[in-house]
Amino acid sequence: MKHIAVAVDGPAGAGKSSVSKAVAADLGLVYIDTGAMYRSVALFAIQNGIDIKNDPQSLIDRLDEIDIGIKHGEEGQIIYLNGVDVTGKIRTPQVSVGASDAAVIKEVRQKLVAMQRKMAENDSVIMDGRDICGYVLPNADVKIFLTASVDARSQRRYKELREKGETCDFEKIKADIEYRDYNDSTREESPLKRVSDAVPVDTSDLTFNESVALVKRIIEEKTGKADTSGVRNEKQ
Ligand code: C5P
Repeated sequence: MKHIAVAVDGPAGAGKSSVSKAVAADLGLVYIDTGAMYRSVALFAIQNGIDIKNDPQSLIDRLDEIDIGIKHGEEGQIIYLNGVDVTGKIRTPQVSVGASDAAVIKEVRQKLVAMQRKMAENDSVIMDGRDICGYVLPNADVKIFLTASVDARSQRRYKELREKGETCDFEKIKADIEYRDYNDSTREESPLKRVSDAVPVDTSDLTFNESVALVKRIIEEKTGKADTSGVRNEKQ
């Protein structure tokens, strides 16, 4: 396949990561979860007792101490914070909120966006986040805005956490998603919004496999190159 870049934006919990990961596996693209990078910065702050929201300068001052590494294994993206695998650790609700707070800081975004652009130069990627279509990869071959209603997104997160055996409260999850939606779409730096050339995909009433099939079809239509003929493994 020729070198291509697929950009996927959308709000928290719309299924961007799981859908993009499956599409990457089927089409032989490298999947890059940019949210994991913001989460790693938040984890660094939490581990170092930095209050991101009330004292962003302390985080800015220590940005040079943050080294984020990404490897692509069988299971998808593995993320390292200063050499330590933090793939599992960055998925807590506390880190989710911290990531959203870190993401409003211009210096944090500059650091991570530079890394993301480099990755897209080196490989054919499907990259998901909030500002990928409009800012990180404005020349992407395919742009998709993946979304779902707040209720559908909260239900999915709730189910996901329950399946992992974590105790969680639906109303709290919904409030976190609403908080992040508000933060992400009203911040000054690269707010979340659909750019006019991104194809909207609403997954509220779609199953996971339907969402994957739809995204693959859009990529195929736009690039004419992707092999979307494979039958998906129902397990995923
Ligand atoms: O996608 P995920 O929920 O893991 O992202 C965590 C947080 O990182 C988001 O709530 C958002 O604030 C921030 N983010 C961002 N820009 C990106 C990816 C994530 O601002 N490209």
